[in-house]
Amino acid sequence: MTYIFPPQEPTTLPINGSGELFPVRRVYCIGRNYAAHAVEMGHDPDREPPFFFQKNPNNLDTSGEFPYPANTSDVHHEIEMAVALKSGGINIPIEEALDHVYGYGVSLDMTRRDLQGQAKKMGRPWEIGKAFERSAPIGPIFPASEVGHPDQGHVEFKVNGETRQEGDLNQMIWKVPEMISYLSDYFELASGDVILSGTPAGVGPVNKGDDLEASVEGVGVLKVKVV
Ligand code: MN
Repeated sequence: MTYIFPPQEPTTLPINGSGELFPVRRVYCIGRNYAAHAVEMGHDPDREPPFFFQKNPNNLDTSGEFPYPANTSDVHHEIEMAVALKSGGINIPIEEALDHVYGYGVSLDMTRRDLQGQAKKMGRPWEIGKAFERSAPIGPIFPASEVGHPDQGHVEFKVNGETRQEGDLNQMIWKVPEMISYLSDYFELASGDVILSGTPAGVGPVNKGDDLEASVEGVGVLKVKVV
């Protein structure tokens, strides 16, 4: 049998300091995982069950450029630590969850906030606000064998050198092992899955020409130009 047209190449992420690549399977994103961000979006920061949405694997973009997308006038930045899985399964216990993590990276969950807001109001899915082309700029993956499993560390996002978002990984409402365990109760996780772990407070708009700088202590710095 032959393909009727060539299949898409898999999306891959570079592994920091090596020529190896991490092939991406799925992208899960957690919502409202820092209390201060939940409050700024008008929600109760209590520990309700987590919720997730997905981006498309090929929304991940390592080019260092973010093209301002169509059909919006309010694109927001959300800095997030990315968790890259080397294995998976179902019903993963919390205490075994980190065994499935290959490494970590710095990413942005770029959001067409106006379209997301309309979708929320109408009770519709969020894809139109979240899962558009190149909506998830991301840097290289740092293997856990080198950087460990960071559960604390400064998270900071700057636009043109000015700090807009600040927080600490230890402020996550749902910690990385809990996220993996919870997701695996509802989805079969597998090698190549990437989880964006939520954003601290301070989200806001970006404009064409902006220089974005996202840093997660111990996991690196991601620089992106809005074009
Ligand atoms: Mn987000």
